[in-house]
Amino acid sequence: MSDVSRRKFLTVLGGTGAAVAAASGCTEPAEKLIPFLVPIEDQTPGISTWYATTCRECPAGCGLHVRVREGRAVKIEGNPDHPVNHGKLCARGQAGLQGLYNPDRVRGPMARQANGEFAPIKWDDAIAQVAAKLTGAAGNKVWFLTGHETGTFDRLVSGFLGAVGSRNRVAWEPFGYEALRRATKEVFGVEAVPVYDFAAARYVLSFGADFLETFQSPVEQTRGFAAGRGARDGKPGRYVHVEPRMSMTGLSADEWVAPVPGTEGQVALAIAHVIVEDGLLKGGPATASLRALLGKFEPEDVATKSGVSEEVIGRLAKEFVAGPSVAVAGGVGAQHWNAAFTAAAVHILRPGQGAGEWPGGRPVRPRRQPRVRHACRGQVRRRPGVGQIQGEFRQPLGRNRHGGGFGPA
Ligand code: SF4
Repeated sequence: MSDVSRRKFLTVLGGTGAAVAAASGCTEPAEKLIPFLVPIEDQTPGISTWYATTCRECPAGCGLHVRVREGRAVKIEGNPDHPVNHGKLCARGQAGLQGLYNPDRVRGPMARQANGEFAPIKWDDAIAQVAAKLTGAAGNKVWFLTGHETGTFDRLVSGFLGAVGSRNRVAWEPFGYEALRRATKEVFGVEAVPVYDFAAARYVLSFGADFLETFQSPVEQTRGFAAGRGARDGKPGRYVHVEPRMSMTGLSADEWVAPVPGTEGQVALAIAHVIVEDGLLKGGPATASLRALLGKFEPEDVATKSGVSEEVIGRLAKEFVAGPSVAVAGGVGAQHWNAAFTAAAVHILRPGQGAGEWPGGRPVRPRRQPRVRHACRGQVRRRPGVGQIQGEFRQPLGRNRHGGGFGPA
């Protein structure tokens, strides 16, 4: 290197590289790298910047602080001032950066090819294809499928559909709460997903709800469960899990009761039967119609069908009324063919504490829901007139976990 100057060496190297690229037929346009010669607003090299935002890995919407260095997000933490998670995050929230950096993530528009597989296409081509599909497609021939959305994107989708004159917006959630929503409507007259006050409950009776994993708002519920379960007056809280399989949430229970799959609702109503008929609650809502319903769920019969003994049903009833208690249905327990029945049965059990007295300290409170229909893609395909769909938009759902991408229907 002694008789070749550094400047000359770099010139030769650059020229060689360009020649190799030209010879290999590389047609990608050259890009300029200008690292921080033009500094990004709010970014100082070597100093972290924190941004407050919301986790979208599940519908719970925990508050986040994201640490950014030189324009790159490098760490996610919980926002200690957020009312849902109070600074905590679950494993999915902590892994949120994978959506940005995982090599398997969806990086741009994809279109289905002749062989049925998705393949990346250019943005210009994607926009042209969508525009061509929308040209001449009027009103309800356009459908927009999203995950559970709120806020700005929710308004953007509604505005888009309003502009094309369509009302066909469908939300799809991997962990749907349709059964719970329907049961809440049947029992309480409110079509909503209930909120459970685990912090106020000293006794938790779960019918399959994996409330420490994915059910509803796991971080919020874990905080509440930890607070309610802690020792008071020298006694810890108690948690009984009723589910045919042992879940990760069930592993935290003091007792696991495994009924025959699909009979969880019958077990709940047999417990309610004991509460009402044995007079365990004074002044409870033992109306004639409730007695008539519960009369069909004699503990002896339910024990035969469910495999849960009469003795266990009776003991759970006594423990439940000793409260304050919360009964919750969800997870696998609210996903099978009679899921809405199971959820409704558990809802009926909840006010068994007495008129106006709720086990968890507060009644069912509806979460705000976007005003969209919830359905799986198969349900959409089966709707009358669906063969006339001209354009279908699909938001990438959960990125690398659920596939995603979009293309002409
Ligand atoms: S529960 Fe976990 S995945 Fe869901 S919003 Fe909170 S941190 Fe994110």
